[in-house]
Amino acid sequence: MSLASTSTRNKIAFFSTQPYDKTFFNTYNEDFGFQLDFFETQLNQQTAALIEECEIVCVFVNDIVNEAVIKQLAEKNVKIIALRCAGFNNVDLEAAKKYNLKVCRVPAYSPQAVAEHAMAMILTLNRKTHKAYNRVREQNFSLNGLLGFDLYGKTIGIIGTGNIGKAFAKIALGFGCKVLAYDIVENDDMIRDGVSFVSLEEIFKSSDIISLHCPLNDQTKHVINKTSISFMKENVMIINTSRGGLIETACVIEGLKEGKIGYLGIDVYEQEEKLFFRDLSADIIQDDAIQRLMSFPNVLVTAHQAFFTNEALTQIALVTFNNIKSLLEQNDIENKAALLV
Ligand code: NAD
Repeated sequence: MSLASTSTRNKIAFFSTQPYDKTFFNTYNEDFGFQLDFFETQLNQQTAALIEECEIVCVFVNDIVNEAVIKQLAEKNVKIIALRCAGFNNVDLEAAKKYNLKVCRVPAYSPQAVAEHAMAMILTLNRKTHKAYNRVREQNFSLNGLLGFDLYGKTIGIIGTGNIGKAFAKIALGFGCKVLAYDIVENDDMIRDGVSFVSLEEIFKSSDIISLHCPLNDQTKHVINKTSISFMKENVMIINTSRGGLIETACVIEGLKEGKIGYLGIDVYEQEEKLFFRDLSADIIQDDAIQRLMSFPNVLVTAHQAFFTNEALTQIALVTFNNIKSLLEQNDIENKAALLV
């Protein structure tokens, strides 16, 4: 059913839009008929002014959706904030309730996309394929410095066993790893598959590789800190494809300098908002912490690309449109995990 209309009810203002967002959302909008307004800029207190006669705003991971912005949106008669991502730590849900705005998200668009990227980071850091690629192009066929280890038999600790953590555990089990997990809720299916649920401290003490898959909230903020690093094995590998704030960056830099942390793979970074999703190749980056991280030979940084697959972008577009359609037609969404407020 087409919702095509000039009404403000069917107009969606997209923030932080990249060319691929336009491609996927325009393609799948053919079945929905919304009016789409794309803004490249991030949503924040200044850019909220761009919204005109529009009741729906679509945001991504680094848009600022705090109380001040939500108040502005409410004053502009916005009714729905549709996140086109799973994480929602950037949205003040209490403020949304206060100003009577609905907030929805895409709870599980492709857990495999993120889980597979986490494994790609592990394999790259371990087998140094990025270095081999460059080396061979220079006709340097030596193996010195490329020594890796067998993943088979190693212990991988997973923090957060939701959709992504679960998918990642299956991959790790497939490699013949021993898989430990910590979550506030244990998962019986995973235990049957061979995963052992243990304490957070046990994860830190026993894992050769630690992969973060929990959301960022008050309990998980800086879960990787000076104390947790002190519990870890020498030469531990830490992988973060979840949210930057799970890692206290200064402590990890210290751990890398001391050699305690042997490898770090991050797809997310606490201050990524000013960096990621942009081409800054001609700029002087003012963030010294990311520059320091990028200078280590055993650190791999990707710019929040774990979700970035064809399948995930298709699901993101379809679920976002369906969420909005349900809210407009029924003021509710059948999948309760999609409706935050
Ligand atoms: P999910 O909601 O399915 O799972 C989260 C899991 O974390 C749940 O099992 C929950 O019980 C657990 N959890 C909550 N609080 C915890 C705590 N204090 N300690 C340990 N575990 C806790 O979410 P998901 O789809 O698996 O996504 C996980 C996170 O991955 C998201 O919150 C998001 O931040 C991130 N993410 C990143 C990308 C990317 O492109 N890098 C893409 C999608 C999601």
